[in-house]
This record gives sequence, C-alpha cells and structure tokens, in this order.
Amino acid sequence: MGEFDLIERYFKRPAKRAALGVGDDCALLQPRPGTQLAISSDMLVEGRHFLSTVDPFKLGHKALAVNLSDLAACGAQPLAFTLALALPQADDAWLAPFSRGLLALADLHGCELIGGDTTQGPLNICITVFGEVPVVQGRSQALLRSGAQAGDDLYVSGTVGDARLALEVFRGTLSVPESVFETARSRLEAPTPRVALGLALRGIATAAIDVSDGLLGDLGHVLKQSGVGATVNTDSAITLIAARAHCTCGTGQFGTEILPDQWLAWALAGGDDYELLFTAPPSARTLVALAAQISQTRVTCIGQIEATPGLRLVDDQAKPLANRWHAFDHFA
Ligand code: ADP
Ligand code: MG
Repeated sequence: MGEFDLIERYFKRPAKRAALGVGDDCALLQPRPGTQLAISSDMLVEGRHFLSTVDPFKLGHKALAVNLSDLAACGAQPLAFTLALALPQADDAWLAPFSRGLLALADLHGCELIGGDTTQGPLNICITVFGEVPVVQGRSQALLRSGAQAGDDLYVSGTVGDARLALEVFRGTLSVPESVFETARSRLEAPTPRVALGLALRGIATAAIDVSDGLLGDLGHVLKQSGVGATVNTDSAITLIAARAHCTCGTGQFGTEILPDQWLAWALAGGDDYELLFTAPPSARTLVALAAQISQTRVTCIGQIEATPGLRLVDDQAKPLANRWHAFDHFA
C-alpha cells in the first residue's frame, strides 16, 4: 500500500462542514460570521505518551481526545482537525483500528478530518484541532487562563488521578484488583474530552484550563496568568479519584496498603487526566450546577481563588499542608 492509497483508505472522507477537505494542497475552512477560530496542537510520541503495546483503536481515540480537551478548556465548538502521522510501516492491522478509533470520536463531536501529512518514521501522531468561539459585542467568548478573580470558587470536572494509578500498574510499582485497574485504565487510554461542559461554561467561568500535566501544575498556570493565588482543600481533591471509592485494598510495591498521601499525590499531580479546571464567582454557583447538569458532567469545588499570590493547601480542618508535588515537565 502506497502513501496515497493509505490516505485514501483510512483518512479520506467526504467533506461536510469544511469548504474543502482531504485531497488538495490546502483544506478550506469557513468560520461562521461573528466567530473566531480556536486552534491547538498536541503531539503523541511512542514511549513518551503511550506504550507500544496500546490498542490502536484507543490510541486513535486518545490522540484526538487530548486535542479536543484543549478546545473544551477554551469553550470552543470543535469544527475540524488535521493529522500529521509518522508510521514505521503501512500496516492494515494497525491503521484500520487506529482510524476507526480516531474517526469515531471525531464523528461524536462533529469534528472533521480535513487534511494532514503522512510519512515513514518512528510512530508519532500530531493533531491540530480547529474550533469555533462566538464573538459577542466585540468580545470573544473564549475561556482563558487569565480571567480568575479573587473570591472565585475553584472547580474540577470528573475524576483525576486514575490515569496515573493505571500507569503505575503498567510500570509494575503497584497492584490493584482487576475491576479497579480496568476503571483506571480506561481513564488513561480513553479519556473523555469535556467539550459539552466547556461550551456550557461560556459566560459563566472566569478562567479555565484542561488538566493534562497534573492538577496543581495546571492550576499554577491559571494563577500565574491571572495574577492571583489559591487555597485548595486536599480532602476535596482526594475524593476526585474514581478508583479510590472502589479500592481501599490495593497494595503498593512492598505489599503495603496505598496510603492517603499516595492517593493525594495522584489526585494533585498524577497527570493525563484531561478534565477541566475552572473558576467562577460564588454568585454563579447555580449556573455552574446547571452547566454540570446540562453537560452531564460531575463538577467538584476544591478551593478558592485569593488575591494573595501562591498556592496554599489545607485539609477539611483548615490545617495547612506543605506542597510537595510537582507538575510533569518533559525537560525537567
Ligand atoms: P502535499 O504534498 O501537498 O503536502 P500530500 O501529498 O502530503 O500533500 O497529501 C495529499 C492530501 O492528503 C492533502 O490534502 C493532505 O492534507 C492529505 N493528507 C495527508 N496525510 C493525511 C493524513 N494522515 N490524514 C488526513 N489527510 C492527510
Ligand atoms: Mg504533504
């Protein structure tokens, strides 16, 4: 199978929303009047972002999911995406499930594959997504990292920490019951981008970011860009791990029970969560609850934004905890 057969077979479909899709030198995308394009790229590299043994269907899903998560964090409606793919060989047994996983999620969000590039090389997947954000009375409705205000509540969607738990099981540092592992594994391999929540939060949230490198690290970006600080309740944060509710019986590397501190580390700095972290004023609590309901997404308040810069951690008794957690950094 040659390069063009491969594109034709796995990645070319009739254009719906785009003015021109796969097949020419450029795709053509027509944003609707009164909208801005929101654009984001994310790359997945074998060995760095995924294991070589991962199911290609799930990998196709995840490659697009992590990109859609950025659109969600911006409150953008997905429109289209491009796919730059380096492959060791043109292998149908890999390409068929990969493109099915990718295009199934694309269809779910009405996000069209409009172009890309295909080359031989070590497996590497780079997607660029395009989304649409309305401009109302000259103001973009995009959710930004820079809008958090002192006094705002701090929320996280869904669950966090489970992807990291699954990664530790894969690494062999941990063993947990099969049912717990499967829950955690689906969070690592097939995250759900919170697109509907992002859209529902337009005009309600003051700031938003998607949690990809760990909750506290990504919160740090919001605090820095908004020029504010925050207090996070660690007892609330620990409830965000789905697996913990099902598992008080896991054992660590040395056959010991998983300690609260370990759970907390995964919740606060686990990474690969693809949930939304956002802020909104207390006056918008009812609207936030409504947005959660409309998007059928769980939302938990884990703290408050404050004028004093810096990040403070406290438990339910308001006892301060030292922050020992660091965000993931590829070059640290
Ligand atoms: P060019 O040589 O002009 O860069 P290519 O020959 O690389 O174009 O690609 C031919 C067409 O196929 C282009 O429309 C391009 O966007 C599309 N394409 C290439 N690779 C992919 C891919 N992995 N997924 C979707 N479209 C692709
Ligand atoms: Mg090309």
